[in-house]
Amino acid sequence: MTQYAIETPPVVTLPVAGEDTVFPVRRIYCIGRNYAAHAIEMGHDPDREDPFFFQKNPDNLNASGVFPYPPHTSDVHHEAEMLVALRSGGKNIPVDTALDHVFGYGLALDMTRRDLQGVAKKAGRPWEIGKAFEHSAPCGPVHLVSEVGHPDQGYLELKVNGEVRQQGDLNQMIWKVPEMISYLSEYFELAPGDVILSGTPSGVGPVSVGDTMELSIDGLGMLTVTVA
Ligand code: MN
Repeated sequence: MTQYAIETPPVVTLPVAGEDTVFPVRRIYCIGRNYAAHAIEMGHDPDREDPFFFQKNPDNLNASGVFPYPPHTSDVHHEAEMLVALRSGGKNIPVDTALDHVFGYGLALDMTRRDLQGVAKKAGRPWEIGKAFEHSAPCGPVHLVSEVGHPDQGYLELKVNGEVRQQGDLNQMIWKVPEMISYLSEYFELAPGDVILSGTPSGVGPVSVGDTMELSIDGLGMLTVTVA
C-alpha cells in the first residue's frame, strides 16, 4: 500500500441532484468571451475567432452557498455560467460524438477579481491571480443528462439583491458545448471528472459583502449565493 509522505488532499466533489452519489472533479476549464455581448462589453471584437480557455482549480469550487469576499481586491465581479461535467474524456473527440462524454449540467459563478485580472492582462501575465482564488467558483449540484437532456437553449439570468444584472440565452454561445469539448480535446486529454464553465453573457459587475446573487437557467433550477 502506498505510504503518503504528507496528509493526502481531499477529493473535490460536487453534489449530484436527486442522487446519493457525488461527482469527483479532476480539472476545471473555463472559456473566455463566449457570448458576443460580453466580448463587446470587455472591449473585444465578437467575431468567431478560435476560443481560448483558462483554468480554475478543482478546490476553487464551492457548493456552500456562501462566497467569502476575497483579499487584495476591491472589484470582484460575478460571471453567471452553465457548468458542464464530463463522465468520460479522450483526445481529438469529434464534435458529433462530444455530447456522449457529458455526465450532466449545472449552474456556476466564475467569480473574478477584475482589478487584478486587468493588471495581469495589461502586463501580459497569467490570469490565475484574478480567476483561480479560494472559493472563486460557487456552484450548484450537477443535474444528470437523463433528467435535463443537453440544454442548447434556455434563458439565463443573474440577479443581485433582486435586481437583474445579467441576462442571456444559452443559444447565444459563440462556441457550443460539443465544439468546446472537441476543441479542448485537441489540446488536452480530457478525462472523467473534468468540468467546463461555458462562458458568461453581458452584464458582469461588482458585488459587495452582504449581497445575494441568484443565478437561474431554464431547466437547471436556481443557485443562491451570499457574499460574506
Ligand atoms: Mn467566465
